[in-house]
Amino acid sequence: MKPKNVLIIGAGIAGLSAASYLQRNGYATEIFEAHSVPGGLCTAWKRGEYTFDYCIHWLIGTNPETGFDVLWKELGAFQNEDGSQSQIRTFDEFTRMEFSDGETVRMYANADRLKEELLRVGPDDRKEIEQFTEDLKTLSHFRLIVDPEKRSLSNRLSTSLRNLSIFLRYLRHLKTPIQEYARKFKSQAIRKTLLGMTPPDWSLATLTMGLGLQHTQSAGYPVGGSLNFARNIERKYLSLGGKIHYRNPVEKILVKDNQAVGLQLESGEKVMGEEIISAADGHTTLYKMLEGKFLTKTLQNAYTHFPLFPSSIFLGFGIARDMKDQPKMLAIELDSPLELPDKSVHPYLAITIRHYDPTFAPAGKTSASVLLNTWNEEFWRDLAGKNRHAYEEIKKEIGNRVIALLEKRFPGIRSDIEEMDISTPYTVQRYTHNWRGSYEGFGLTPKTIMARFPKTLPGLSHFSMIGQWTTPGGGLPPAGLDGRNVASRICRQDGRPFVT
Ligand SMILES: Cc1cc2nc3c(=O)[nH]c(=O)nc-3n(C[C@H](O)[C@H](O)[C@H](O)COP(=O)(O)OP(=O)(O)OC[C@H]3O[C@@H](n4cnc5c(N)ncnc54)[C@H](O)[C@@H]3O)c2cc1C
Repeated sequence: MKPKNVLIIGAGIAGLSAASYLQRNGYATEIFEAHSVPGGLCTAWKRGEYTFDYCIHWLIGTNPETGFDVLWKELGAFQNEDGSQSQIRTFDEFTRMEFSDGETVRMYANADRLKEELLRVGPDDRKEIEQFTEDLKTLSHFRLIVDPEKRSLSNRLSTSLRNLSIFLRYLRHLKTPIQEYARKFKSQAIRKTLLGMTPPDWSLATLTMGLGLQHTQSAGYPVGGSLNFARNIERKYLSLGGKIHYRNPVEKILVKDNQAVGLQLESGEKVMGEEIISAADGHTTLYKMLEGKFLTKTLQNAYTHFPLFPSSIFLGFGIARDMKDQPKMLAIELDSPLELPDKSVHPYLAITIRHYDPTFAPAGKTSASVLLNTWNEEFWRDLAGKNRHAYEEIKKEIGNRVIALLEKRFPGIRSDIEEMDISTPYTVQRYTHNWRGSYEGFGLTPKTIMARFPKTLPGLSHFSMIGQWTTPGGGLPPAGLDGRNVASRICRQDGRPFVT
C-alpha cells in the first residue's frame, strides 16, 4: 500500500521531531522550511573563527532523571556526524549575580550548596531559604512519562502518584508571582537575585523548576551547541528517507470540505498531502495560513491577552581571551540602567560566557554573548523597514555601549574583541517568523502557566498544530515531545502500532 503522505511546516525542533517519528512509522513525510538551515530558534551562526550560539543554555533530558533522555536518544540529538556522542557538560554554578554594591550571589546547582550561599547572603531569611531549597530538591524528582507505550501500567501509575505529590508542592509555586514571593525575603540581595532572573509578574514555578533540575544535573549542556543539536536530529531524519525543502516558505494551508488537503507555497506552487502539521509560529498558522477561520475563543483569548516571552537584542562577541576563570552565566547590576532606543530598560547586563564549549572558539579564545530582552519588536521591524541605515547605526551604537559596560567588568576587553554580531527582534522575525520575535511563545504568569492548547482545531480534520506556541513557556523538550506525541496519535488513528 502507498504510504500516507504528511506535509510538515517548519524544520524547528518540533517539526523535525514529528517528521522523524512519522517517517520511521512508514509515512512519507516532507518538511517545508522558510529558512536555509534546520533548528528554527535552536540555532547558531559563525563569524570568523567564532560560533555565536543563540539557544541552548540548559537542556532538560541530558541524564535519565527527567525521562526526556529517551526523546533525545530516539531523535539522535546527541549522535554527531563523526559518530561520536555529544559530550554533556554540567555545572556547579548555574548563574552568578553581581550587584553594584559589591555583593555577589552564586546560584549553585546543588540545593544544599545553594542553601549555604543564600544563608551567607541573608542569614535572617533562614526559614524561607530552607523551604526554598527543600522545594527545589522535591521538584528535582519530577519525571515526565515521555514513552507511555513502553511502560507497564504499574510503572505509569507509580510515576503519576509520585508526580502528584510533587505537583501539590509545585502548585504553590505555580500560583505565586515571583514579585510576591521575593517580598518574603529580608535580604535585599536575595530579593534582587530572584527578580533579576525572572520577570516580576511571572510564576515562581518558572524559576524553581529550572533550578530544581539543576540539583539533579538533569538539564546540562550538549557540547556542539544548538545548531549541532538540530543538525543531528535532521541527519537522522534524512537517513530515514525524509525530505526537507529549505527556502520554501508556506503561505497558506489548503482546506477543502473542512479537511486540510495541502499547502500553497510562497512560490505559488501547491503541494497536496493527506495529513498537515504546522510546527511553525502559532500566530502565522492561525491568522495567516488558515485566515483566522478556525479560531476558538480560547485561542483568540490567548493571542489577544496572554503575555509573551520577550524577544531579544543578542550581541555575540568573539574574544581573544581565555575566560575559563569566569562563571558561565553572569548578570551584572549596572550603576545606572541601560536604556535603549526601543524604550526597553536594563538594570542588568546578562552575559553568557561559553568557555565550556571548545567548538565555539579556538583554544585560548572565547565566544560570549549579551542578551537584552525587549517586548518592543515593532520598533525594530519599523526601523529596519523604513531606514536600514539608521537600523544598522543603532545596532552599532548599542554594541559600543555594551562594550563600554563590559570594559568596566573586564578591563582591556575592548581590544580583545575580534568579532561582534548583533541580532535584533527583527532578525528573529526574519529568520524564524516567530510572532513579535518572541523566543519561547507565551509567557508564564500564574494565569497562563497551566494553559494547554489542543493540537487540533475544531472543524478542521487531518490537521495538527505543534511547537512552542501550543505550550506556554515553550522550550526544546515540549517541542520535541509534541513531535513524538503527534506522530503517536496519527499512528493510533490509522490503526498502526507506534514504533520509535
Ligand atoms: C535566546 C534563547 C534561549 C533559549 N534557551 C533555551 C534553553 O536553554 N533551553 C530550552 O529548552 N529552550 C530554549 N529556548 C527556546 C527554544 O529554542 C524554543 O522554544 C524551541 O526551539 C521552539 O521550537 P519550535 O520547533 O516549536 O519553534 P521554532 O524554533 O520557532 O521553529 C519553527 C520553524 O518554522 C519555520 N517557519 C515559520 N513560518 C514558516 C512558514 N510560513 N513556512 C515555512 N517555515 C516556516 C521557521 O523558520 C522555524 O524554522 C531558547 C530560545 C532562545 C531564542
